[in-house]
Amino acid sequence: MPFNNSFAELPPAFYTRLMPTPLPSPSFIAASAPAAALVGLDPADLARDDFVEVFSGNKVAVRSQPLSAVYSGHQFGVWAGQLGDGRAIVLGDLDGPEGAMEVQLKGAGLTPYSRMGDGRAVLRSSIREFLCSEAMAALGIPTTRALMLTGSPQRVMRENVETAAVVTRMAPSFVRFGSFEHWHYRNKQDELKLLADYVIKNWYPDFLAAANPYKELLAEVTRRTARMIAGWQAVGFMHGVMNTDNMSILGLTLDYGPFGFMEAFDANHICNHTDQGGRYSYANQVPVGHWNCYALGNALLPLIGTPEEAEEALDVYRPAFGARLDELLHAKLGLFDARPGDEALFDAMFKLLQANHADFTLFFRRLGELKLDGGPQSDALLRDLFIDREAFDAWALSYRERLRQENSVDAQRRAAMHRANPKYVLRNYLAQTAIEQAQNGDYAGVHKLLAILERPFDEQPENEAYAALPPDWAAHLEVSCSS
Ligand code: AMP
Ligand code: MG
Ligand code: MG
Repeated sequence: MPFNNSFAELPPAFYTRLMPTPLPSPSFIAASAPAAALVGLDPADLARDDFVEVFSGNKVAVRSQPLSAVYSGHQFGVWAGQLGDGRAIVLGDLDGPEGAMEVQLKGAGLTPYSRMGDGRAVLRSSIREFLCSEAMAALGIPTTRALMLTGSPQRVMRENVETAAVVTRMAPSFVRFGSFEHWHYRNKQDELKLLADYVIKNWYPDFLAAANPYKELLAEVTRRTARMIAGWQAVGFMHGVMNTDNMSILGLTLDYGPFGFMEAFDANHICNHTDQGGRYSYANQVPVGHWNCYALGNALLPLIGTPEEAEEALDVYRPAFGARLDELLHAKLGLFDARPGDEALFDAMFKLLQANHADFTLFFRRLGELKLDGGPQSDALLRDLFIDREAFDAWALSYRERLRQENSVDAQRRAAMHRANPKYVLRNYLAQTAIEQAQNGDYAGVHKLLAILERPFDEQPENEAYAALPPDWAAHLEVSCSS
């Protein structure tokens, strides 16, 4: 494989060169065809032994210079000092039709940054990361990608004994906010500048000519982060661990751990069992995204110049988030115009969802089926999601009134809404079912979910069951940082 090694061109202080630890008896589990296309690979080839050897870390391609990167970060709002790729090893970059992608093995063994960890990832969390990366991409939300999933009988200790797996991840760059914080907190301005220049040169080349490229960088990363989080809110995605070491300098959703998709709506829902204070609850994702950009701004301050200039760049956050969420909510409700009063309609809708704990995904999908001239009877499936049916009827009345203002046409609106409101998201119970099957050596559930989630907006009559409300047993599912 024709690897380049762009990150390795930075000085050695930025990483440690090392070999992946071979994964015993590696076996191919799954590959993503759309991800493979990004690096010009044929997904059918990926099941071949030679690819499995490379993407399990057992063989190093001739041109690959494997390394683990160092970074630091704020975890749950507290400065955590040095972290780094504790179990991720970069193989290098592969060219593709949309630009080069850095290829990384997650779970490839001990690195100098493993701290107390074992350098491995378990099959359970690897399936979750593999499926969710590709699901988010199909939802149109910026994300790192997952090329391939490899398993092994190697035993790994977590709360229980589990087995090891490797996810082959890809992104143009895995540089994090914490990669900058690392040098700032060590007072290493030369390295800070080298890293910023490396990022600007490769991914933000337009800023090279700006009066203050570093301020432009901060403003653009802030804008992308705000837009990404608006995308999360609009599909009910909760990241779970928005530490600054998990924030991408390219505005990509990064490091899938105890994430979740909102089911029974609760703005204060906490998807990560370990997050007792709810710092990363659904509603808090929005201010936390801004907070994280401040942490990046603080790190870049020596390059930017004055706090006023950094503040100016950070002020991009609120308007960028607001405008993007507004755009997404209009699309979700099938509103083609923006009119005064729309915000009140959205607020009333969220109050209604909150009071009734209606299922987030089903609500928006069924809303697309609403008939403008239908009465409450025609809304039966939608109404069923609410305990207080009269409250729903009252909101539906104002929604219909609003639709009439723009002469909305049922069929046209339905088609547009079904392109904005996914039918299929990676509900925890779906992931859990596929995981338990895989833990017994049957990967059919993983393949099935991947195929469904690659087309989240399509009606898939044969897969209706995968759009259903979670079963009762799923109410007790807990996901935590242990992975
Ligand atoms: P996370 O919360 O998954 O983003 O991880 C925070 C830090 O812990 C990162 O530096 C990870 O690389 C590291 N880490 C997480 N799990 C492991 C593990 N099993 N072995 C080594 N390092 C780990
Ligand atoms: Mg991380
Ligand atoms: Mg991690």
